Amino acid sequence: MTAYPPITRLVIASHNRGKLAEIAPLVQPYGIETVSAGDLRLPEPDETGTSFRANAELKALAAVEGSDLPALADDSGLVIPALDGAPGIYSARWAGPMKDFSVAIGRVSAELERLHATDFSAHFVCALSLAWPGGPLVTVEGAVHGAITLPPRGKRGFGYDPIFTPNGYDLTFGEMEPEIKHRISHRADAFAQLVALVFG
Ligand code: IMP
Repeated sequence: MTAYPPITRLVIASHNRGKLAEIAPLVQPYGIETVSAGDLRLPEPDETGTSFRANAELKALAAVEGSDLPALADDSGLVIPALDGAPGIYSARWAGPMKDFSVAIGRVSAELERLHATDFSAHFVCALSLAWPGGPLVTVEGAVHGAITLPPRGKRGFGYDPIFTPNGYDLTFGEMEPEIKHRISHRADAFAQLVALVFG
């Protein structure tokens, strides 16, 4: 098993408050102090990758370069097979320049209606990439499967949470207790894989 360099201070390479709030508590039990890319005023790199994995890696590597600290980045999104995988890696962009998720949710709804979709299955994907200055770079991918629920329900969470009901539950991510979402989410799945690899 590979021994990874120890981490005492870690940059969370995200400017998204929802994600920061979910990721920071996950690493704190390992005695790791976190600092956000926003706190360090690191620029947000363009997400030019063509996969969740590639985008997570380029964000982690950019934060390492700007801080000389280990950095953890995530790239995530909602994949809807009936829409050929959209919004996928463009999940954030579907919300437009004002990052208004009622716009993104409206577009999902309109596209499913336009296609007379009968398959409402969907999954969230989260690629997590952890990079150290000078290497190595570890990337894992987690998922949570469920279905699109329309009209949207619930005001908790962020992004597409009000239209996603995970398999085995009746409540959308927007309705359920955050503790439950955080236990079953794509990010939790990816994080468990990362912990097993790096801290296990
Ligand atoms: P990015 O990873 O910064 O490119 O953004 C991913 C986008 O996917 C977010 O802005 C959200 O719209 C969406 N997303 C990712 N994870 C979640 C989640 O847990 N709930 C709801 N939406 C999510």
